[in-house]
Amino acid sequence: MKIVAARLIVCSPDRNFVTLRIDTDEGIYGLGDATLNGRELAVVAYLEEHIIPCLIGRDPFATEDIWQYLYRGAYWRRGPVTMTAIAAVDVALWDIKGKALKTPVYNLLGGKSRQGALVYAHANGSDIPSAIDSVKKHIAEGYQAIRVQCGVPGVLSSYGVPKGDKPYEPAERGLPSESVWSTEKYLNFVPKLFEALRIEIGEDIHLLHDVHHRLTPIEAARLGRSLEPYHLFWLEDPTPAENQEAFRLIRQHTVIPIATGEVFNSFWDAHDLVRNQWIDYLRMTIVHGGGITALKKAADFAAVYQVRTGFHGATDLSPVTMAAALHLGMAIHNFGIQEHMPHSPLTDDVFPHAYRFEEGYMHPGDAPGLGVDLDESLAAQYPYQRAYLPVARTLDGTLTDW
Ligand SMILES: [Mg+2]
Repeated sequence: MKIVAARLIVCSPDRNFVTLRIDTDEGIYGLGDATLNGRELAVVAYLEEHIIPCLIGRDPFATEDIWQYLYRGAYWRRGPVTMTAIAAVDVALWDIKGKALKTPVYNLLGGKSRQGALVYAHANGSDIPSAIDSVKKHIAEGYQAIRVQCGVPGVLSSYGVPKGDKPYEPAERGLPSESVWSTEKYLNFVPKLFEALRIEIGEDIHLLHDVHHRLTPIEAARLGRSLEPYHLFWLEDPTPAENQEAFRLIRQHTVIPIATGEVFNSFWDAHDLVRNQWIDYLRMTIVHGGGITALKKAADFAAVYQVRTGFHGATDLSPVTMAAALHLGMAIHNFGIQEHMPHSPLTDDVFPHAYRFEEGYMHPGDAPGLGVDLDESLAAQYPYQRAYLPVARTLDGTLTDW
């Protein structure tokens, strides 16, 4: 089998997605997600100008060799644009391999290690009562693990909280919006939120919380310690992770489980975190971390240190990535949990898929390959629109981490 063509489909069914389609001489094609939120067209150019010409004529089964060719062969390694482009190729090739062998991709990665992938939903509210209502709504839908974000009194547009009555979607069309942040108000408020939640819903549901990289290590340590009575499943991105050593300080002060990695694009971003056991969950995502080939290795390395996975699964990843994450999550032994922020009904129409949600778990389905397709004629009705994530400033106007 040979690769005979590859092209990009860029569409915006409620938000932007970039999809790579690779075609073979046997009529089998594969899809890879190439979406990099807010920098979408940089990946398109990287693929069209620099990668696709190198793919034509290659054997699509050679996933390891092609990965190495694109990573080592470029000389310039790592970075989100490069690794998203490599991931798109890698995932499309695994899709082709599964279709050609007439088996779901999880069977090529070790087979099923579990019956379903535990997922967590996003609950949010402008205040504590509405956050509790949102959590109860998700429990009624069958979720057993729920991330909770809440408006902080005195802080406009807190992270993870929708502005109106639409589902939360941080990427907005037009130029970046600005939000305001106060660490002091946040640190005083969050323990009250989780105290109220445990009183209201009891002990059985897993609760998670995302700090979104906004604290210093010692502030994160204080938050972790103050949340210990409410036994969270994890505290996510407590501090920016460019300096992996920062997590040592958090670890010295609290036993709250720590998750990080959604912005990582190489396992080297997580190497010290994992080998020193400063984190409990690795949140790298297939689409930004180099694909299934790279994430399988990252997960296997993490397994040695009892670090489990918690793959990023927000709406900035297309259904192709969600499917890839579910196939990998079904196969690896150290799967922890999968984020599930459902796509809009329109996005689901553009990307028909075999995966499904059932009683707190997701299942990749048993279709050959990844089990996701792309309705190109529908996608063509929703052309790309420039969109960005917000930026954040502290109360005095200083730019801070969003
Ligand atoms: Mg997050």
